[in-house]
Amino acid sequence: MEKRDYYEVLEVEKTATAEEIKKAYRKKAIQYHPDKNPGDKTAEEKFKEAAEAYDVLSNPDKRARYDQFGHAGLGGAAGNGGPFGGFSGGMSMDDIFSMFGDIFGGHSGGGFGGFGGFGGGGGTQQRRYRGSDLRVKVKLNLKEISTGVEKKFKLKKYVPCTHCHGTGAEGDGGAETCPTCNGSGTVIRNQQTILGTMQTRTTCPTCGGEGKIIKNKCKECAGEGIVYGEEVVTVKIPKGVAEGMQLSMGGKGNAGKHNGVPGDLLILIEEEQDPNLIRDENDLIYNLLLSFPTAALGGAVEIPTIDGKVKVKIDSGTQPGKVLRLRGKGLPNVNGYGTGDLLVNISVYIPETLSKDEKKALEEMETSDNFKPNTSIKEKIFKKFRSLFD
Ligand SMILES: [Zn+2]
Ligand SMILES: [Zn+2]
Repeated sequence: MEKRDYYEVLEVEKTATAEEIKKAYRKKAIQYHPDKNPGDKTAEEKFKEAAEAYDVLSNPDKRARYDQFGHAGLGGAAGNGGPFGGFSGGMSMDDIFSMFGDIFGGHSGGGFGGFGGFGGGGGTQQRRYRGSDLRVKVKLNLKEISTGVEKKFKLKKYVPCTHCHGTGAEGDGGAETCPTCNGSGTVIRNQQTILGTMQTRTTCPTCGGEGKIIKNKCKECAGEGIVYGEEVVTVKIPKGVAEGMQLSMGGKGNAGKHNGVPGDLLILIEEEQDPNLIRDENDLIYNLLLSFPTAALGGAVEIPTIDGKVKVKIDSGTQPGKVLRLRGKGLPNVNGYGTGDLLVNISVYIPETLSKDEKKALEEMETSDNFKPNTSIKEKIFKKFRSLFD
């Protein structure tokens, strides 16, 4: 099924504030709440859809990625496993209800910090630790941006402890069922919400939701299941990225405690300044300074592009302020929508010093009709200048 636009799902504007988004979600959650629509599959789907939209739009980081790349920015939808992969996927009903404390102003039950979604599936209630996300910056030149590039990172990060294989226990049988929750990882609490009293499950305070406690802790990792180490990660950066964009690689962040869910690796893109070319979204701009005779007589000049120099023909009588457009010589669009152009902005160099002969020759030209500025061209240049301020 085609995923709907999250703003459409919550019926809010793209510019909606956090408060507006919360309000819109609250409305949808009440409308489609399973308690109000028993057995109604469509309502349940809408309930889940709204929760997913809220999950993304209420998180500034996810929202920014969604605004920039759409569903693809969160992975999952496209299923490409590429650089944008790694969104945790759909939400379970339990995830949705655990969000409610925050939305409806009830107490949240606490203890959710540091945990990811429910691990493993299979109907268990135990939670798994989630490793934190790692951030790296990568500086790219225009050539790398135009073709896409593979970058290797040597990451200092938490990795599973090899001594205990991530369990945190020394030797065999170190983990015991938690006596507080009998291994379920949760305890039941009554919670007051605007829908009335709801019985909610909250994380067990004794075991932190894992359902197990470790008696005999691993000596290498002090029972954490993770140690500080190193990993080399290769990141495929798609073509067309720009300064400030962030890619995410699911599962390449810090390892989670006790064989939990690893965090994500977030890659922040930085752009190296090019000595010749200025970037304007997918277009590139080059400022060409022509000699006065070439502008007047015409000729051929070399223009730097990402793929090396190209020869460009200059017509006789070329005016400063004229812009040549070299189609397709810009940068590819990050979403695959074509390639930008290279815009060559023409200026004309006027000699700063003149020899006696040159001076004499120019003085003769000064009185020639051909050298008097043409009014229509004057207007054309001024119009162009004005348009810069529109
Ligand atoms: Zn260990
Ligand atoms: Zn417990």
